Formats: sequence, C-alpha cells, structure tokens
Amino acid sequence: MGYKVTLLPGDGIGPEVTEAAVACLEALGLDIEWERKPAGESALGKYGSLLPEETIEAISRNKVALKGPITTPVGGGFRSINVAIRQLFNLYVCLRPIKSFNIPGALYKDIDMVIVRENTEDLYAGVEFAAETPEADAIIEKINELSKKKVRRGSAISIKPMSAFACERIARFAFEYALKNKRRKVTCVHKANIMKYTDGLFMKSFYEAAKKFEGKIIAQDCIVDNLSMQLVRHPQNFDVLLLPNLYGDIISDLGAGLVGGLGLTAGANIGDQIAVFEPTHGSAPKYAGKNKVNPAATILSAALMVEFLGEKEKAKILWQAVKDVVEAGESVTYDLKADRNDPLAVGTKEITKAIISRIKELC
Ligand code: NAD
Repeated sequence: MGYKVTLLPGDGIGPEVTEAAVACLEALGLDIEWERKPAGESALGKYGSLLPEETIEAISRNKVALKGPITTPVGGGFRSINVAIRQLFNLYVCLRPIKSFNIPGALYKDIDMVIVRENTEDLYAGVEFAAETPEADAIIEKINELSKKKVRRGSAISIKPMSAFACERIARFAFEYALKNKRRKVTCVHKANIMKYTDGLFMKSFYEAAKKFEGKIIAQDCIVDNLSMQLVRHPQNFDVLLLPNLYGDIISDLGAGLVGGLGLTAGANIGDQIAVFEPTHGSAPKYAGKNKVNPAATILSAALMVEFLGEKEKAKILWQAVKDVVEAGESVTYDLKADRNDPLAVGTKEITKAIISRIKELC
C-alpha cells in the first residue's frame, strides 16, 4: 500500500537529517510519495512566510508529516513555528521515547521510558506581553485589583493557561498509551505544591483518568524538581512520564542526555487527525551543510511514523538497524564517539549509508 507524506526539511541541519530518513525508508521498501514543503527561516525569503499556506494545506491533506528542526530566534523576533504547527493542527500529544543504546556516551544502559508531553497549553501558549506596553500595564492593573499578590509595575507577563479539557485529554492518552504498549506505570510530573491551580488541575485530572485503569496501570505523581534529581540517579524507576508543556520540553532534553545525547532522541506530535514526526533536537545552525551531525534521531522519528502508519515490522527493522550501527560504534558521527574529537568519526552521509546496509541485511 502506498502512502503520501508531507516532508518539511526545515532549517539548519534539517535538510540533511530528513533526507537521510527518506533514504532509509526507501531502503525499507516502503512505498511513500513525499510532498516536500517549505517551513521556517528558509521559507521566509522565498515565500514571504515562515509557514506558507501551501505547507499548511499539504499537512492538512496528507495527515502525516516528517519534519526537520526549525530555527527560532531567542529573546525576540518571530515566535516558534514548531509551537505554531502543534497548535494549528491541534497536535496535543508530544511523544518522546527515551531508550538506552549500549554506547560510550550513555550514562545508563537500561533506560526504557516514554515522555508524554501536553503540547498546546501552559507557558507555551504564546500569550505574552512585553514589559511597559499598555497591554502589560492593563493586565498588571487588573491583577493588582483582583489578587492579594501584587505584580511589580513594568513587568513582562507570560500567561500559563491549563484547561480541564486539555489536562484530561492528555492524561487519558497517557494511560491508553501505557495499556496499549504494555507499560506498567504512569508518573504525573508537576509543581502543584506551588502552582496549585494550574499544575493542581493537571494532577487532579491525572488521578481522575487513573480510576478507569486501576489494577492495570500504576498511577503516581512526582514534583518536577524531585523528578529531575531522581531521573539522574535512578532513571530505571520510571516508565511513562506525563508532563505539562514546559517541564516536558526540559525533561525531554534531560532524558536525551541520559541515553547518549540529542542525536538519538526521536519524537512525534500527535492529534486526533494529524501527526507530525520530528527529532527532539534543534536546527544546530553551526553544523548546517557540514555533513557532520547524527541523523539517527530523525531516522528513529521516521520509525515512529512507520509504526503509526501501521507498518510495525518495518518500524522494528528500522529501529534495529539504527541500534546495530550505533552500538557497533564504527560508522558513527562525532557525538557517539567516546572522544568527540575522534578523527574516526564519520559524517551524516556515511552513517546513513551504514544504516541502509544494515536495513538491507535485516529485510
Ligand atoms: P540544538 O539541538 O539545535 O543544538 C544544540 C547542540 O546539540 C548542537 O550545537 C550540537 O552540538 C548538538 N546537536 C543537536 N542535534 C544534533 C545532532 N543531530 N547530531 C549531533 N549533535 C547534535 O539546540 P539549540 O542550539 O538550542 O537550538 C538551535 C535552534 O533550533 C534554535 O533556533 C531553536 O529554537 C531551534 N530548535 C528547534 C526545535 C524544533 O524544530 N523542534 C527544537 C529545539 C530547538
């Protein structure tokens, strides 16, 4: 059966790592017609938009997309197109498996957990007001009128909306995912001791959803600072982690660090209608076009996509091929070497070639 998939190469290293994934899927023998569409900085010059209409239309029509990272300026400039895509298509789940490979950079060899991050609300909702603007001043005025706590005049304001609807929806997803994938435990991560109403609602919705899974899936919660310490010391104790948007973003990178770095961590953004698959890492602009970076995170994201398309056996082969090449440690990029300056490290193209050879052996 043939599939039509939108491909967003993205910025920086995006085009290199997405083309590596396309080549691997071809080697798997999957019949995929790719519709390549612009997004991000690279789209701005040519199309006058960071997310051109034709890209939005293709994602809506094809329903499944593979995406490279997109650059977002820090502390100013345009807002994140990554966040915009998640909000526009209501991709309310961000799924990130954190699984150890037996490589020198892995701090632990026995981690197997999955991060389920709420993707549409929280401080990432994009409701922000710059300091000393009439809007920020009006909000501060209103808060000072309504709340016992006073906000200093001249402050910048970011709003943290968390709805019962979104909290319940993501909690249900986490339990259903756990059940379907034979996981034993879901841990809800929060800071409800301080943010009693927002994170409090997240936790309350979690325990409400847990009732339906009693006796099947263990439900527990953990404060995010405590979790950070426990993850570094005993990551094997965790199975499925359910987090609001901001903590989910940060803990995903911590998880990546535990298993050997950003070059290996895959991700999926999933909604009821549409799913967009992308690596956890960013566009690493300094390495763009240098045949330097590790495409494995994007290839593993493509494996999640292949599984989502219902091709479970092919997804397994792809995952295994990456694992075999990465663990053999010969044809691997700099980030997977014990010494990052190891002259024997290969480039993006060479590791892709090695993964393709392994796919062909396994098929
Ligand atoms: P980054 O992930 O791009 O890079 C940080 C460092 O990690 C790199 O300098 C490199 O040393 C290493 N690294 C990242 N990917 C690698 C790979 N595949 N192989 C080997 N090493 C790799 O993070 P950053 O520098 O904070 O962000 C750069 C840009 O990416 C920013 O504009 C940021 O907003 C954007 N970003 C986009 C996404 C996304 O598109 N989903 C995610 C995160 C960051």
